[in-house]
Amino acid sequence: MTQAARKIRLVLDLRRAGVTDTRVLSAIERIPRELFVPEAFQDQAYENTALPISCSQTISQPLIVALMTELLEPDKRLRVLEIGTGSGYQTAVLCQLFRRVYTIERHRELILEAETRLAQLKCHNVTALCTDGTRGLPEQAPFPRILVTAAAPEMPATLADQLDDGGIMIVPIGTSVADQWIYKVTREGKGFREDRKGQVRFVPLVAGAVPAAS
Ligand code: SAH
Repeated sequence: MTQAARKIRLVLDLRRAGVTDTRVLSAIERIPRELFVPEAFQDQAYENTALPISCSQTISQPLIVALMTELLEPDKRLRVLEIGTGSGYQTAVLCQLFRRVYTIERHRELILEAETRLAQLKCHNVTALCTDGTRGLPEQAPFPRILVTAAAPEMPATLADQLDDGGIMIVPIGTSVADQWIYKVTREGKGFREDRKGQVRFVPLVAGAVPAAS
């Protein structure tokens, strides 16, 4: 089976699994996931699974990328802040659906690789930063949308505070892989509405700088 045929099969699988937003599905159809997957896993690039990348991290499962993007209610007029660039695959999807994407990753090696791939795909509406994403991006806040792609141990208040009124943050929360859930957090004036969505398994959101050796 060719990569193109595998990609069509993946998009059909995502539809069957409940992804209905055609903008999200066509963004997935446009982005070559094989570009974001290590050489050794090329034959699995269009399987609906997470795969290992450098720095002991993972490229997320396509279904989770699609569902989280859909929950984010994408809008071409809006800016979005993403925490946890990883391979840059989810970032590339966001670039198709938002006006500007700010993405933060704590591993320099990952962000450099992701930037190269995003430039190859001509994703020019992205700003990639190597820093601790738990601080958010106060210089550019508030944001109408925030997407966190690593599991926070608890509701990340610093990030929630950087949401616009009416803004949406999608974030996995949980300390153990067996008990991690996606939350949709909506800012309502001074308060927040929190809706728990599906169960997930993400690598942890780690506060602070990366030790020099890693
Ligand atoms: N969406 C990515 C998934 C990346 S996995 C993809 O599809 O490839 C989560 C990423 O979050 C990892 O690369 C990890 O290094 C990063 N991360 C964890 N804690 C972070 C923090 N405090 N700030 C920025 N990035 C962080």
